[in-house]
Amino acid sequence: MHRSNAIAFVSSGMLSPKKRDHVLARRQLYLNYGALSLATMLDAAGFTTMLLHGEHRDPSEVVDELFGTGVLPSQQPLMISIPSFYALPWAQTFCRLVRQRDPEVRIIIGGRWVVGPDVDWLRSKIPHADIFVPGLGEPILNSLLTAKPDLRRLQSPTPDFTLNHRLVKNHLQYQPSIEASRGCGMGCAFCEERDIRLEKLRPPELIARSLSAVQAQYDGSEIHPYLQASMFVPNVQWGSRLVEAVMDQAPRIPWRTESRVDALTPDTVAHLAQAGLEVLDLGLETASPTQILHMRKSADPDRYLSRASELLAACRRHGVRAKVNVLLYAGETTRTFEETRAWLDDHAGMIAGVSVGPVMAYGPPKIASILLDDWAASGAAPVDMNSAFETGITSVHLSRDFDAAAAEAASLYLSRRYMDVNAYFQLKSFSYYPRNYTRADFDQDVKQSNPNSLPFREADRSVQSCVSSAPDSTVTAGSI
Ligand code: SF4
Repeated sequence: MHRSNAIAFVSSGMLSPKKRDHVLARRQLYLNYGALSLATMLDAAGFTTMLLHGEHRDPSEVVDELFGTGVLPSQQPLMISIPSFYALPWAQTFCRLVRQRDPEVRIIIGGRWVVGPDVDWLRSKIPHADIFVPGLGEPILNSLLTAKPDLRRLQSPTPDFTLNHRLVKNHLQYQPSIEASRGCGMGCAFCEERDIRLEKLRPPELIARSLSAVQAQYDGSEIHPYLQASMFVPNVQWGSRLVEAVMDQAPRIPWRTESRVDALTPDTVAHLAQAGLEVLDLGLETASPTQILHMRKSADPDRYLSRASELLAACRRHGVRAKVNVLLYAGETTRTFEETRAWLDDHAGMIAGVSVGPVMAYGPPKIASILLDDWAASGAAPVDMNSAFETGITSVHLSRDFDAAAAEAASLYLSRRYMDVNAYFQLKSFSYYPRNYTRADFDQDVKQSNPNSLPFREADRSVQSCVSSAPDSTVTAGSI
């Protein structure tokens, strides 16, 4: 059997979308920038490498493609990244099929949020894989190519190189990423990054250089890079240096990033907007003081919410579209939900869109049980005790007011309240739809989707009229 010398990275796809299954959700593309970071390093070291995303394709189609194009079989290991527990079923099928075609293949599995919590559990789920890498791959990358890899979990700083998007199969369809910083450590109870120390933000001059380099990888065409950082916290000086550094770029490159609502000052936003910031994802999560404390989001809810108001006002002043993430959390009641709704109503004119969903416990039993025990104190309970072991994903009944079905209905209700079809398309197409996906394609897909599953309302009513025409001010689990 002829073997290539290529090192293929495969980012596991999903058999069905993460949240609600509709045609639009299946259009979304998520660049696996962690896997691309490793592929970029190997490419720079002289290896032949590439990254292919499984997306929503059938795993057998991807296997056929890799063998059909001669990438597999290879003398080198096959690197499979599992970015979330939703991608696990795809990875299981993919590994089984690859092993059937090439019994000698050496399969290495990475994706620290999925591998890290319990390697033995994952090994039992993917018996066809050989090696499991529980931490970051960068410090041990060369060793992974040897017969006896060193799997110690080592720290790895934010890479200071630009990702080579040309290594991504069909890269022109994906919006690019630039890593700005890693870690967070702010301690939010539900978050995997809560104890991972925040690393220094890369210098603005290097970010500007990466913006230009990425633009060149896309042959100068319009791009919307995502500055990847779990918590993007530049100060005013950093922002003004970025303005200086991007001043000569033509055309100006619009970019997107995410942060906490209490992490950026209005003055910093002014500079970032000048430097190209166009969309800001904000992890508000809740506007209920009780839930802010439950989530350990902040010890001072009043200050948290007033900082959030100031930031949203600054975004509006400087033309930055703010997308607000909301999390219905353990212990959510009609009262806490109403507090969030009232706050969002007051700020509706400053919000470009929302993403709303109920909290889930991610991880095998070893990890999920810690979260579920914590949430039980607030009256939450798992929907299915076995799902952590079976899938690594546990849905929860949040409280007596919000069982899992009511929480899902309330999430859709809030999404539609603050986001119409135009806002949804603008936010999604900025970062997640294929770059050649048009508004006409989108409208066609909307027609084919079940309207009950779509998280936006029609465009015929303004946000304000939608807010003021709500049937009553009290939302109960049964009324949504
Ligand atoms: S601020 Fe965001 S990234 Fe940091 S711990 Fe909280 S939820 Fe996680």
